[in-house]
Amino acid sequence: MIQLYIPLNFLGVIYREIKQSLADMERLFSLLDENREVADAPDAQPLVTQGAQVRFSHVEFSYEPKRQILFDVDFTIAAGTTTAIVGHSGSGKSTLSRLLFRFYEVDSGAITIDGQDLRAVTQDSLRHAIGIVPQDTVLFNDTIEYNIAYGKPGATHDEIVAVAKAASIHEFIDSLPDGYRTMVGERGLKLSGGEKQRVAIARTLLKNPAILVFDEATSALDSKSEQAIQAQLKEIARNRTTMVIAHRLSTVADAHQILVLDHGRIVERGSHAALLAADGLYAQMWARQQARANAPDEAAA
Ligand code: ADP
Ligand code: MG
Repeated sequence: MIQLYIPLNFLGVIYREIKQSLADMERLFSLLDENREVADAPDAQPLVTQGAQVRFSHVEFSYEPKRQILFDVDFTIAAGTTTAIVGHSGSGKSTLSRLLFRFYEVDSGAITIDGQDLRAVTQDSLRHAIGIVPQDTVLFNDTIEYNIAYGKPGATHDEIVAVAKAASIHEFIDSLPDGYRTMVGERGLKLSGGEKQRVAIARTLLKNPAILVFDEATSALDSKSEQAIQAQLKEIARNRTTMVIAHRLSTVADAHQILVLDHGRIVERGSHAALLAADGLYAQMWARQQARANAPDEAAA
């Protein structure tokens, strides 16, 4: 038994390493791929933000020539306000955030930030201005301090502790035997979905971007962690231009504006109250999620 156990266990380790590096490669390639078609214009200027109004102007987009994904998408996020985007899976919500980050070019129409066309600004300055809290945070095989500092290379330890406190993860880190030097990631301490998301929030706080994009997790979190994180995000989003891609409608009820996306078109827009009164797709989605409220495991759309 012992003889068999050791080599198998060893193989398990190797297998995990290979799987991890394949995953890293995949991520690298997909990033390279996504950037391939996008280049700085020869006369590109750094983006200058002042409040950061985001405007999508009659945007049309397709990943592949024969399959259009977005149709005449037109909306404005006023400086310092929150816009939520809801809609069924595959309706094009995450595509909007990828276009804002300029991973892809729009086919027609334009996206501007404070009046500057994304195609006219440097990608560096654009990505500097936008902080994304993704659905699934990737942790590097490094210390937790490094993982937070990734939001701002060169950050001091005090700055890191300050954002960890603001993201409510400082106490947890402090309780670990190695504290901020604890190794995390595939080869270190495994963090829960909620802890990973707090690291992502701390990173974003450190980056202090003018624009915040939050692609809400579907089911990674239990509803208690979910509520705690929602409260934190609301805090970060205050007075910051924010795009929330939402699966749980209960989390977007107080957004300044809600856009309902269906098959790549905005079919409804307005406040939560106005959309309920309109008794359309949003009202249907709301009613369905309310009915499921007693079975939170199924609440993710
Ligand atoms: P949502 O976030 O609303 O679930 P997405 O914006 O991710 O939807 O996707 C919208 C549509 O675009 C889907 O039909 C999806 O299959 C397609 N899509 C997403 N990414 C790609 C891609 N890289 N290449 C081709 N099609 C894609
Ligand atoms: Mg999505």
